[in-house]
Amino acid sequence: MGSYNYLGFARNSGVCAEAAAGILQRYGGGVCSTRQEMGNLDKHEELECLVARFLGVEAAMTYGMGFATNSMNIPALVGKGCLILSDELNHASLVLGARLSGATIRIFKHNNMQSLEKLLRDAIVQGQPRTHRPWRKILIVVEGIYSMEGSIVRLPEVIALKKKYKAYLFLDEAHSIGALGPHGRGVVDYFGLDPRDVDIMMGTFTKSFGGAGGYIGGTKVLIDYLRRHSHSTAYATSMSPPVAEQILTSMKCIMGEDGSGLGRERVEQLADNTRYFRRRLTEMGFIIYGNSDSPVVPLMLYMPAKIGAFGREMLKRNIGVVVVGFPATPIIESRARFCVSAAHTKEMLDEALNKISEVGDLLQLKYSRHHFVPLLDRPFDETTYEETED
Ligand code: PMP
Repeated sequence: MGSYNYLGFARNSGVCAEAAAGILQRYGGGVCSTRQEMGNLDKHEELECLVARFLGVEAAMTYGMGFATNSMNIPALVGKGCLILSDELNHASLVLGARLSGATIRIFKHNNMQSLEKLLRDAIVQGQPRTHRPWRKILIVVEGIYSMEGSIVRLPEVIALKKKYKAYLFLDEAHSIGALGPHGRGVVDYFGLDPRDVDIMMGTFTKSFGGAGGYIGGTKVLIDYLRRHSHSTAYATSMSPPVAEQILTSMKCIMGEDGSGLGRERVEQLADNTRYFRRRLTEMGFIIYGNSDSPVVPLMLYMPAKIGAFGREMLKRNIGVVVVGFPATPIIESRARFCVSAAHTKEMLDEALNKISEVGDLLQLKYSRHHFVPLLDRPFDETTYEETED
């Protein structure tokens, strides 16, 4: 219950595994060279065209590792004299990239638009420290779904702010691409926005696509620039061809280009599973964080001593979970972090839920002061439950 296999494509059988196995026999497993030397295969170019179409942007560049996509490309985009405005809960790869870039970094409160606007306004009014020259570039860095909170970025407001203050926007969709939006095209799809309003669309293939690596999408000018300047293109061996094939096959499936409705079904199944799992946990009296559409579901344990106990008790019952504590969370906000998948059947979810409930009673984790009375005449949404004090 903790794997990022959101759409169930990380399987050892089925269309993706078969296609990848076929390519392994034709191309071999390794490339043994970088994109700029001899490691540029037709499979990489095919993948980049498909990613650009999937995202709805002019061009895309792919990399063998998601972590390096952030940490090696942010330094190619900003440097000294530039300002990065970073959400306080951004992933370590974004933090590392920001630090390596040499740009000044300022942190805003998680998903808090007042905090972001204050930093933007101060940056424009004050300019750079001492000289008060204008910043060369201001780059806002956010994620689509935050993997420890299950929160979805307030993208429409972030875009409005970036336009108002003429900043650039870097969006990391590691957890939201494939997993969010009616077409599985991430947070831009979820809010019905124009992908061209996001300057740098970043994401990984390690989750919904069941592969490995990362991408950056944007204008052709941006991508051509990265092809020349990114350390990942110049110094890192390019993506293994069977991995590229795994991503190509799963992405085409999500887009419906394989001729089946399987991809669409999986996207819908994930959304249904997410709502069901979240609703049941809330009904049981657990405190759950995040957005009701987020397949990342943090269940609050609060006390550090319960971290190990919850993980072990669940494992005893044959359920693998991820438990998280300090320093990844504040010390009194320890949690278990579930990830729902389209590959979970209702029976599997019910079995997991029953065991979570059992362990919840054992460890006294049902902290909610409220119990919820379903109003059955309306479909489920956040307002479907009336809160009543116990
Ligand atoms: N960005 C975010 C937001 C992530 O959560 C992760 C990893 N979970 C990465 C980047 C790094 O990606 P990868 O694991 O594909 O290297």
